[in-house]
Amino acid sequence: MKANKKYQKRTVLGNILTVKQGDKLPAKCIKCNSDAKIGLKQKLTWIPTWMYIFGPIRFYPIINKFVMRRGFVTFGLCPKHYKIFNFLQFISWSIVLLGIILITMHFVSNISALMNYQLFIGIIILYLGIIFGLYIATPIKAIYIDKTKLKIKGCCKKYLNFIQKLDK
Ligand SMILES: [Zn+2]
Repeated sequence: MKANKKYQKRTVLGNILTVKQGDKLPAKCIKCNSDAKIGLKQKLTWIPTWMYIFGPIRFYPIINKFVMRRGFVTFGLCPKHYKIFNFLQFISWSIVLLGIILITMHFVSNISALMNYQLFIGIIILYLGIIFGLYIATPIKAIYIDKTKLKIKGCCKKYLNFIQKLDK
């Protein structure tokens, strides 16, 4: 590595960690600060807060194309926390799949008069699955993204202290 290469420091403010785009964090679990066996590269997305007034509309691809910002960060998870988040992701995808099945069945079958609300229920379940996946089943969340940096939430206090000491 070149000596004159500009190194952007990671910064910690409260429970928020600021890292540069594409940063590779140390091999420590972000949830418990124990040694991490797994390094996960995660794509994070963020939209400006004012977009929330549009509610679910923000999930539409055309809106996302213009306002959504993306970033990558690689972080560590210990085997225990890796299992937990894998399981939560599995649940989230199962909910999404259930929503898709209900919506599809609404369009392919016209036999059941009982299922008048099936499309509506399917859409609600689909959204719930997406929201669960984005906000609960994810180890870290982006609270701000621009071209050079990401601000992330979800790291434990011990880990944040460790990162702060690392940069001193
Ligand atoms: Zn852990």
